[in-house]
Amino acid sequence: GLLALEASFGWEEQSLPTGETRFRVHCEQKDFLERLQRLLKQAVPAAESALSELEETDWLAAWRQFFTPVCCGKQFVVLPPWLADTPDFPGRTPILIEPKSAFGTGHHATTALCLRVVSDLLEAGRLQAGQHFLDLGTGSGVLGIGCCKSGLTGEGLDIDPLAVDNALENRVLNAVAPENFTVAEGSIGAVAGKRFDLVLANILARPLTEMAADIVRACRPGGCLVLSGLLEIQADGVAAAYRAQGLPEPRRIIDGEWAALVWDS
Ligand code: SAM
Repeated sequence: GLLALEASFGWEEQSLPTGETRFRVHCEQKDFLERLQRLLKQAVPAAESALSELEETDWLAAWRQFFTPVCCGKQFVVLPPWLADTPDFPGRTPILIEPKSAFGTGHHATTALCLRVVSDLLEAGRLQAGQHFLDLGTGSGVLGIGCCKSGLTGEGLDIDPLAVDNALENRVLNAVAPENFTVAEGSIGAVAGKRFDLVLANILARPLTEMAADIVRACRPGGCLVLSGLLEIQADGVAAAYRAQGLPEPRRIIDGEWAALVWDS
């Protein structure tokens, strides 16, 4: 939950003289904040929370200032739609993402790591236009859209219906043809029997470990597999689960406390 929150919303953290910490979360979706309040109450019964509405104009400006463009690798820049016409990133492929509750505005290290790997693989000719990808845990669709804008085609899956809606919205924003990037609610079982040239799965260490056999099966022999959503301290455990499926030791790419595991040889 916090992972998604950190990536998708503006938030401030303040240490109070009492030793307590106050978090202020900016979000335009009241129902999401109410859900967050309920989860917080369950997880930390002593925590207090309150909702308040900001004046429309101030709120929009305050919220928008969090969504700065993010350059990922040499190839991509992730931008909110209101910055679509910025001329500041010549030569980069823009990925327009409408920030909503789905994860994947580019601001989280795990998204940026995955896009960096895709950018490097494209540059090295290891990935090519016309190849087929699976974006498991597509969130906002950011990774799949980046792949499609680089000439690949593929499928995005997510267990969260709100993420599916956001990915579909972002597919339109980026003028990606529906047949080039199909997006649906579901998980790895939905592609049983299919094989992809590239499998991207930016989820979390535990589901990545549990789905290791199916994820490995979804990647064609000699294809590329990129996993993220895991902390560096979880990398050994996740890598071991994939070694148990017959894969060699992956390359590890680290950003702060986050890691990506890459099989591309
Ligand atoms: N791909 C985007 C990115 O790189 O920014 C979003 C990644 S976000 C960390 C993980 C996404 O995976 C969430 O949207 C979540 O709903 C989804 N998810 C979690 N478990 C899943 C599972 N077992 N199968 C498919 N999607 C899952």
